[in-house]
Amino acid sequence: MTVLDMKNVGLTLGKTDVLADISMHVAQGEFVSILGPSGAGKSTIFRLLTGALHSDRGAITCYGLPLTRNQQGFAFMPQSDALMPWLRILDNVTLGLEVQGVPRKEARARALPLFADFGLVGFEHRYPAQLSGGMRQRAALLRTVLQGRPMQLLDEPFGALDALTRMQMQKWFEARWQSARWTTLLVTHDVREAVALSDRIYVLSRRPATVIAEVAVPTPRPRFGSPTPPDAHALEAHLLDILLTQTGDTL
Ligand code: ADP
Repeated sequence: MTVLDMKNVGLTLGKTDVLADISMHVAQGEFVSILGPSGAGKSTIFRLLTGALHSDRGAITCYGLPLTRNQQGFAFMPQSDALMPWLRILDNVTLGLEVQGVPRKEARARALPLFADFGLVGFEHRYPAQLSGGMRQRAALLRTVLQGRPMQLLDEPFGALDALTRMQMQKWFEARWQSARWTTLLVTHDVREAVALSDRIYVLSRRPATVIAEVAVPTPRPRFGSPTPPDAHALEAHLLDILLTQTGDTL
């Protein structure tokens, strides 16, 4: 079943054509990435999906129904963990639900059983500054997942982490995703991350953005073994080539 469907979506902001013609879809339980050069319009697509912006052209539907300006469409996790420093981890994690009107007691009852899966047991009453970068990122992801929206939008969720923590988080996320199968749309400029995590990848052109490639990743999971499986490695090289063509660079 299709959760998200964008058909010929276009957007002009002021005098800037940001999105020329974007068509993409995400099926239930699917992991899809949007890969593109910096400034292509990746975050702008998320602003459309979260209702912060409205498209000028084309149609966006969620489970076949139009995504309107007032609809709180999808759960969103930004690049920085965006945890409130003055709130304990448990309160940070339940904040999204409480904003939706879920009573605090019920929000906590839904959140607490998930702390073990997210490696956060014992840290429920700590403040964000008392956690490592990876733990804060896991708390931010737990807050996103807990909102129970049809789909998680992840905007470079591991981008702010150091290289080692980033790799550990990607591996952890891959394992969690395999059991949970959250419907996920990930924005990234990291080819390796896209290939390791996704079922399918859309590649965007430079602004004004169009979809210039759509590839399925056939490599069985897990894909973070060493060395990288050969077909995943070949796909990474192919995608990098497409991206370099867009930025006018060569290796
Ligand atoms: P990405 O996430 O791919 O790096 P963004 O979606 O953040 O790219 O931005 C895409 C382009 O849209 C950028 O070139 C940016 O300058 C432009 N842009 C974003 N918001 C506005 C705006 N309000 N007015 C004009 N241009 C904008």
